[in-house]
Amino acid sequence: LKLNNNDIVTLKSLGAGNSGTVSKILHVPTQKIMAKKIIHIDLKTVIKTQIIRELRILHECQSPYIIEFYGAFVNNNNTIVICMEYCNCSSLDKISQLCDGRQFPLYLLKKVAYAILSGLTYLYTAHKIIHRDIKPSNVLMTHKGEFKLCDFGVSRELTNSLAMADTFVGTSTYMSPERIQGLNYGVKSDVWSMGLMLVELASGSPVWSEDDDADKSLAGNGGPEGILDLLQRIVNETPPTLTNRTNPLTKGPFDPSLCAFIDSCLIKNDSVRKSPWDLLQEENGFISGVAEGVYDKDVKSWAKKIRKLHKDKTEGEK
Ligand code: ATP
Ligand code: MG
Repeated sequence: LKLNNNDIVTLKSLGAGNSGTVSKILHVPTQKIMAKKIIHIDLKTVIKTQIIRELRILHECQSPYIIEFYGAFVNNNNTIVICMEYCNCSSLDKISQLCDGRQFPLYLLKKVAYAILSGLTYLYTAHKIIHRDIKPSNVLMTHKGEFKLCDFGVSRELTNSLAMADTFVGTSTYMSPERIQGLNYGVKSDVWSMGLMLVELASGSPVWSEDDDADKSLAGNGGPEGILDLLQRIVNETPPTLTNRTNPLTKGPFDPSLCAFIDSCLIKNDSVRKSPWDLLQEENGFISGVAEGVYDKDVKSWAKKIRKLHKDKTEGEK
């Protein structure tokens, strides 16, 4: 599919992140609805061509757990445009805002964990790709209650260029300790990020935030010192856990199998931490039953409810 800006009609904005903006578009020749991500970046033409070439591998990534890629092109010399499958229930960060106490129900966490592990396993075993940016905004949901990964680091040039454009792009509090320390890291680094994300979605609040820093005046607000302090703490402190914590919604403890699963993802030593395929194969664990469809009915009706809330919300914003 040869894509260019003349064939595209922008329908609405879907959000913006550190590296770009995303909108819902119609590709007129095919009448296909897509999501378009624009990355503003000032680069030499050769480098941009290289990035587009590297992104081509995305055409080969085909899995129910991965957002489909339609194509990428350079526009107006200073932007890179990536067109991908549009997901009509948006991302988990936005969905959590629609949940009671921002908390996801347990069957949903099971389904999400299973989808992420399946996506990571696919990317790595089929294409030797590590995701590198697992976080709620990069996991999308469809109205059928399917979960898919987007925004994984396939292009070395793009990753490097973004990192050079702004030191703190690509630095996130979902990063594993080994990665923060600049050590070699692999696919288990994504398992850490997933564990952290599950703590957040189960408890209803982010695990690390810059303003829970004890000395705000020193750290400043959102400044680089704040981030550096925080990253230091991720490396030094005992990993986050839900074990022995009170669920704010039920006032009781969290599900023991969820706690155990998260604890195994958040082992600081990555040689002990499990790989995505090891976690998928565990028997009688947190995600058992998902593959057999045990939770599908619950997930589907939940997705339907969220779809409606999401629609009401976005229509209210117009
Ligand atoms: P960061 O730039 O740090 O990765 P981010 O993931 O929030 O942050 P973007 O990747 O630019 O930023 O995405 C912006 C928003 O667009 C996301 O929060 C998500 O809700 C929405 N979005 C992204 N891709 C799609 C898609 N394929 N379908 C529907 N919505 C999408
Ligand atoms: Mg993203």
